Amino acid sequence: MEKIKMITPLVEMDGDEMTRILWQMIKDELLLPYIDLKTEYYDLGLEHRNETDDQVTIDSANATMKYGVAVKCATITPNAARMTEYDLKEMWKSPNGTIRAMLDGTVFRAPIVVKGIEPCVRNWKNPITIARHAYGDVYKNTELKIDGPGKAELVFTADDGTVTRATIQNFDRAGIVQGLHNIDDSIGSFARACFNYALDTKQDLWFATKDTISKKYDHNFKDIFQEIYDAEYKTKFEETGITYFYTLIDDAVARVMKAEGGFIWACKNYDGDVMSDMVSSAFGSLAMMTSVLVSPSGVYEYEAAHGTVQRHYYKHLKGEETSTNSVATIFAWTGALRKRGELDNTPELCAFADKLERATLKTIEDGKMTKDLALITSLENVTTLNSQDFIKAIRETMDAM
Ligand code: NAP
Ligand code: MG
Repeated sequence: MEKIKMITPLVEMDGDEMTRILWQMIKDELLLPYIDLKTEYYDLGLEHRNETDDQVTIDSANATMKYGVAVKCATITPNAARMTEYDLKEMWKSPNGTIRAMLDGTVFRAPIVVKGIEPCVRNWKNPITIARHAYGDVYKNTELKIDGPGKAELVFTADDGTVTRATIQNFDRAGIVQGLHNIDDSIGSFARACFNYALDTKQDLWFATKDTISKKYDHNFKDIFQEIYDAEYKTKFEETGITYFYTLIDDAVARVMKAEGGFIWACKNYDGDVMSDMVSSAFGSLAMMTSVLVSPSGVYEYEAAHGTVQRHYYKHLKGEETSTNSVATIFAWTGALRKRGELDNTPELCAFADKLERATLKTIEDGKMTKDLALITSLENVTTLNSQDFIKAIRETMDAM
């Protein structure tokens, strides 16, 4: 069989621990036998980040902007324990944070739905994608504890010296205050990333805030979304047959519970943090969750939503058997390959990505899965496979298809 050709390389960001092991297995078993794989390889493993003073992370983000599509393995975000474990020169920043800041992106997370892993919410039939704004609000706040009576004010001093003030509270006893901010450009980038993603995946887009109470702050989010929608996206949405709608966050939560899924839910930073954990755990497992960072300029970086699965890696190092779920990492590759195929107009590459995804899901639906899924599946008589054998089983399913 002739291998599928690629035109433009994918930016490949290798990573750490157990996911680095899975990465190689996926390439060897599921990609290299079928594709003439073209990648520009960046080793984001912690040792190499340390050797290059983290320059490799910056280089990989620049390459992503150059080529447009990247696939990333999970990486260690160093903490005190890792400083000694890897003898680090510095406590390097989270690669995801560095890449996100450079690409100015929005993170979209969607569960991988498969028969036998049922969502807790009975009427959810299709995935719900959470789009989380990753800048500002309570994540960049300023707080004060107020010890006794006094006046708390918001004060804005413009560069020309003009001062605007508003009273927050005349305290007659102890309390607390907090200042938040966001930037119009960042909200606009978030809105465009959501609209583009909705068009790309042909799904409706929901957006919700608490603008009835927060009449300036949250209302600003609502207005920016609406202005950009009307000016740049309304016609495209109508042509594609999808809708954008805005509602109050409490109404959105109630509707999400009653909905069938199959839409994108755009969330402000805090709402997205909280709601994505609720949605992912209700759908089954973090190992069955895709994650893609989309920049407003149309650059895509695909990854798994979980970390490097450190506990399994230490077992692997001791020579013990592991049963680590590679589905999210496989889907990071298929997402990137499909997007590359779309951009290069190579439908064989898109078809291969579709086929590998179907083979992965069919393997699970046929009762062959890793331990994390075996513990929660509604299927009977399942076979629990180790990390390597699960990937081999997917290859067998794909070859039989
Ligand atoms: P984690 O790697 O996601 O693992 C937490 C636990 O979730 C695992 O111990 C395992 O549970 C379960 N799990 C996660 N993925 C799984 C999979 N594919 N198959 C089976 N079980 C899975 O999170 P962590 O242990 O908190 O973090 C480990 C390292 O990952 C840290 O250094 C952190 O900095 C990094 N991290 C990276 C990213 C990223 O690059 N995107 C994201 C998060 C964390 P059991 O042990 O019970 O089997
Ligand atoms: Mg969270």
